[in-house]
Order: sequence, then structure tokens, then C-alpha cells
Amino acid sequence: MICLGIEGTAHTIGVGVVKAVKGRCIVLSNLMNTYLPEKGGIHPREAANHHASQVAGLIQASVEHAQVQYSQIDLVAYSQGPGLGPCLRTAATAARALALSLEKPLIGVNHCVAHLEIGRGTIPECKDPILLYVSGANTQVIGFAEGKYRVFGETLDIGIGNCLDKFGRSLGMQFPCGPKIEQYAKKGTAYLELPYTIKGMDIAFSGLLTTAEEYARRGNRLEDICYSMQETAFAALTEVTERAMAHTEKHEVLLGGGVAANTRLRTMVEIMAQERGARFFVPAKGLCVDNGAMIAWLGYLMHQSGIRMSLNDSIINQRFRTDMVEVTWRD
Ligand code: AMP
Ligand code: MG
Repeated sequence: MICLGIEGTAHTIGVGVVKAVKGRCIVLSNLMNTYLPEKGGIHPREAANHHASQVAGLIQASVEHAQVQYSQIDLVAYSQGPGLGPCLRTAATAARALALSLEKPLIGVNHCVAHLEIGRGTIPECKDPILLYVSGANTQVIGFAEGKYRVFGETLDIGIGNCLDKFGRSLGMQFPCGPKIEQYAKKGTAYLELPYTIKGMDIAFSGLLTTAEEYARRGNRLEDICYSMQETAFAALTEVTERAMAHTEKHEVLLGGGVAANTRLRTMVEIMAQERGARFFVPAKGLCVDNGAMIAWLGYLMHQSGIRMSLNDSIINQRFRTDMVEVTWRD
């Protein structure tokens, strides 16, 4: 079975084609194009216009790159939510049009669950992980329990990527700021105290952001601020992830989302896993960021387990929560 997936929750429009071989995900193609605002944050309508201008070309290129014929595609999947309304609608519209023209079934999938399933699908040893999902808008610690992917902890305000981007932007850096902050952080030498906010299993980053901006205004070294932000925020994320692993007695941890590219975060989570005797996994870079292949793969899993979606049901849900999904394809 060959499935084409369209991702369009936020800044990235992506189209991927995957094939299932003995229950494993083979990525045949995974192309994407990211909207980069010239200044400021992501404007939802502008991002959607960008996606609309790119999606047809990306579908064509992704099918060609996968070396399949349109007639070989068995299923079309799309990101149903959570995300920005105009972006979600653009991806869903493209998916509907493609499914109708190919006369193939259509299925909408949860973006956060897709981040987890692509790890399980492409890393053979990764079977039942706690996912630390760290992206621009989303920050969640997710694990499977009793028929659903449960959110054990999450941000109460902004996503970790958003926190880094906002800080960078206040200093005139261009989106995405996370990679730039990582480079500055490598040259940091002094730790500056920042709020470390964990409430139960949830995290908040806005206090850390405000304090970091205040340090910048006072003229503290940027390298030290970036270093301190990473150490503080990533320690909090690692702590919550460890507590979710302890609570669920799971022995695997998986990273997902754009911030998973950060080597300091990877190191911290890997050390935590080692100290617990657990295994640590990160999907290939193109499968960590928002991408169409993960959407295609989750679409395949859902379809295989008997889930069907009519055209009338193919609406989007900006607030589609991870734990709203009935997980029928695994136990
Ligand atoms: P996503 O929303 O999952 O596509 O991820 C985008 C986010 O990842 C943006 O907020 C980026 O600033 C952030 N990001 C990308 N690379 C890094 C990095 N090396 N370190 C920290 N954050 C990063
Ligand atoms: Mg994402």
C-alpha cells in the first residue's frame, strides 16, 4: 500500500509518499517548503497563501521523486490539526482535491500523534516510547496508555520553539531562531538565573522568556543568556519526560519536533535515558520537523486498522488534541 500525506499545520507545507513493508515505514519521498516571514512571526493567512502557491508543485515533485505513478497511490492523508486554521484548510483542500481526482480514500490525521508514529515506524527498536515533542507551537510529553496517546505534561503557555524564536526576534534575529541561539549557547560561560517553572507535570516558558529579554536589555552577554535559556528550559523538559517514563514504566524515549535538532537537548535527554537504563531515539532530521511522510504513515496505520473518513467528515480541527484520538492500530 502506498500513501501520500500532506502536512500544513503552520509554517511548513510538506508532501511525503510512504510505503509499508512488513509493518515498517519506507519513506519514498518527503519534500517540504517553509514559509519564512521577512519580519515578525508567522502570519496565518500569509503562511496559507504560501502553502497554496506551493502545494501543487510539491505533490507533483514528491510523486516523481518517489518514482510512483499517481495510479499507484492508494490513500491520501492530511494534517487535520492542531494548527493554524488557514494553513490547515489549505492542506485539507489540496488533499480533498487529490483524493477526488484519484478516486482514492481520504483520511485526516492528528499532527502530534504523527510525530510519534513516524519514530515507531522508522526506528525498528522503538516500540513503546515516551515522546518528548518539542516544536514551535507545541510542547508535549506523550505516551500510550489504555487505548490513547495521553499527554502527561505540556506547556501551559508558549511552545519551547516559540520561546526561543520570540527571544531571538526581540534581538532582531530572523525566524527560525532556535539554531542561532544554539550556536550562541555553545560560547556561553556564565549561568544566569532564570525561572524554572514546572507545575505538576506541566511547564511554562513565558517567565523564562521575559527574564531572558530583561537580561538582554541590561546588556548581559548574549552567549550567556542563550546558554542559560537552553540549560533551564531543556532541564525542565527532561525532568517532566523522566517523570512520565517513571510513571508509565516505559523504557524508551523518543524526540520529535524541530527543537529536537538541538544537540544540547539531545544530550540531556540521552543522559537521562542512560541513567535509567532506557533507550533513546531520534528520527532522521527530515522526519523530526513538520513533514508529509509522517502524515502519510499515520494515515496508513489508521486506514489499515479500519478507520474510514467521508468527504463530509474531512473538516479540520485547530484544537485537535492528542488524547482525542482513539488509537485503534496498536495495543
Ligand atoms: P517545528 O515547529 O517542529 O517545525 O519546529 C520549528 C521550531 O524548531 C522553531 O521554533 C525553531 O526555532 C526550532 N529549532 C529548529 N532547530 C533548532 C535548534 N537547533 N535548536 C533549538 N530550536 C530549534
Ligand atoms: Mg510539528
